[in-house]
Amino acid sequence: MKVKEALSAFDNDRRDAELLLLHCLGKEERSWLIANDSDELPATVVQKFSLMSSQRLAGIPMAYLLGYREFWSLKLVVTSDVLIPRPETELLVEWALELAARPGYQSLLDLGTGSGAIALAVQNTLPALTVTACDVSQAALDVAQENARALQLPLELIQSSWFDALGQRRWSLIVSNPPYVAIDDTHLSEGDLRYEPEGALTDGGDGLSSIREIAARAPDHLNPDGWLLIEHGYDQAGDVRSILELNGFSDVRLRRDLAGRPRATGGCWRC
Ligand code: GLN
Repeated sequence: MKVKEALSAFDNDRRDAELLLLHCLGKEERSWLIANDSDELPATVVQKFSLMSSQRLAGIPMAYLLGYREFWSLKLVVTSDVLIPRPETELLVEWALELAARPGYQSLLDLGTGSGAIALAVQNTLPALTVTACDVSQAALDVAQENARALQLPLELIQSSWFDALGQRRWSLIVSNPPYVAIDDTHLSEGDLRYEPEGALTDGGDGLSSIREIAARAPDHLNPDGWLLIEHGYDQAGDVRSILELNGFSDVRLRRDLAGRPRATGGCWRC
């Protein structure tokens, strides 16, 4: 089978087909496919490509098939043990970086780090910051560790359900992209979400229980003047604001993603 025949042999989206074929060939440049479209493909490549094409058609996310996703210009390893990093989560990174650049801010904790995306993006940009990341899932921490190693970043990783294993430690900044999708949200049975770890997406309830727990416990782990930043669903901004205010946070602010949707809320502890 020739390159151009392989690309049209399945019903895959053209861009997905190109990325999968490049992956099977161990090549990176799309231009290679164009320049070599009449080349015969080795049988092993055809076999691998046809398997991946049918997995893609069955709905398996591209990030899991390719084994990586770009986030904040970093190439991160992802497996089905972690949530696929989303572009909208870069908003949290941007906000954390603005705060972390202030005098006196020395440390950041990422709660429920998954692939390590937020923690590593921040640490890669501000190497002087001490960055800790935790996750309840050891399999997720293994992925985060692999990413930290590949990027040569000294990320501290701790297995912990939220603050459970963090003792009395305090940080200048705490950030989290917790499971905030409500269990009855139909998005859970659509697209990539069907294949992502359920515990990274939903709390099994109204989508706010992790946020309530984080907001209630964060004051014991923040330095005075420290900030807590939380990603949430587009329709949860009012609830998250109330939760932060109820727990004594001040200067509570909302940030919107590029599409203008409410996406992250943060508050200051003892400002
Ligand atoms: N933003 C993700 C989605 O709905 C959910 C991420 C999360 O629950 N933390 O696609």
